[in-house]
Amino acid sequence: MHQHLPHDPAVKTRALEALLVEKGLITSTAIDEVVKHYEEDIGPMKGAQVVARAWTDAAFKARLLDDGRAAVAELEFIERHGAELVVVENTPEAHNIVVCTLCSCYPWSVLGLPPSWYKSYAYRSRAVREPRVVLSEFGLDLPESVEVRVWDSNSDIRYMVLPQRPAGTEGFSEEELAALVTRDSMIGVGVANPPD
Ligand code: FE
Repeated sequence: MHQHLPHDPAVKTRALEALLVEKGLITSTAIDEVVKHYEEDIGPMKGAQVVARAWTDAAFKARLLDDGRAAVAELEFIERHGAELVVVENTPEAHNIVVCTLCSCYPWSVLGLPPSWYKSYAYRSRAVREPRVVLSEFGLDLPESVEVRVWDSNSDIRYMVLPQRPAGTEGFSEEELAALVTRDSMIGVGVANPPD
C-alpha cells in the first residue's frame, strides 16, 4: 500500500471503505468512531505528555530514546503502537524534523491525525531538499551551527521529535510542561512554547 498510492488517496480510501462494508467486514459507523477517536481523544496531547515525562524523568527519557514503542507502552493512556516508534532528541547542536516523503506516515498513537500540510506534496518534497527554508517558513530560523536532521517515515518506522525543554521551567509539574509542548514541536517544525 505504501508503494502504490493512488493519485487521490481519499478516493481509494472511500473505495476501500465501500468494499469492506459490502463484504460485511466492517460498518461505516465503526470507521467513523475510529476517526473521531483519533481526532478528538488522541490528538497531540498524548505526545505532549510523553515529552513532559521525558523532561522530568531521566530514566524514562533514556528508555524512550532507546525504544520508543516500548517506552510509550508504559504509559497507560497510549494504545499499543503498531509500527516501530523512533524518538529523536533535539539538542542545542542538532534539530530534527520529520516527514514522510512517500505519503503521510505519522505516529498516530501519540500525535493523533496529521495536519493537512504534512500530507502536502510541497512539504513532503521540500522538507528533504531544503529543510532550513521550510523551517524558516514555519517561523524557525536556526543558526548555521545547528545541524538539521531529516527523518523520513514509512509504514514500518514512525518518528517523533523530543523537543528541547524551554528555559525557565525549573520546578514545573509534568502537567504544566505538557501544556508547553506543541504538535509542531514534536514534528520538528517548531519548538516548545516558552513559559508565560
Ligand atoms: Fe507514508
